[in-house]
Amino acid sequence: MRCPSCRSTSFKDLTGAQRMVVAGRTFEANLPKLQCRACRTQIIHTDVVKAFEWEIAQVLARNGPVSAASFRFLRRQLGLTHEALADLLGVAADGTISRWENGHVEIARATWFALASLVLDQAEGHTAVRDRLRALRRPPPKAIVRLDRSRGTSRRPKLR
Ligand SMILES: [Zn+2]
Repeated sequence: MRCPSCRSTSFKDLTGAQRMVVAGRTFEANLPKLQCRACRTQIIHTDVVKAFEWEIAQVLARNGPVSAASFRFLRRQLGLTHEALADLLGVAADGTISRWENGHVEIARATWFALASLVLDQAEGHTAVRDRLRALRRPPPKAIVRLDRSRGTSRRPKLR
């Protein structure tokens, strides 16, 4: 690897504070960096930046803000195209996501919540939210649904 500034190939490892502003919130982390021994330019490995961004996505998904900027950031973190997300959410593919992300149309909190839930689900290594959104894309099977009341496991838990 060469320094992008001076083409030197000599670096030293260091850890330094890195700041990133996303959707109006400032995030800071101590990240491993490389510093050019010749010109002191600091370089952060792409994988480190990606890991930092994924951590930020989880914080945003937990407590917002609900906004066009955070929506775009979360969608990109999931690697979803406009078309793929429109398909999951059941909205028109002809620019709906763009209008949300450029602020021309306000995003319903419930819609934003669905995207945030996809992020938190993936962060835990699960696909339950994505699977359920996919299942809703098609009409449900007409087979008879049987409820086994004898097991007593299907009672709705009380929430406090
Ligand atoms: Zn350099």
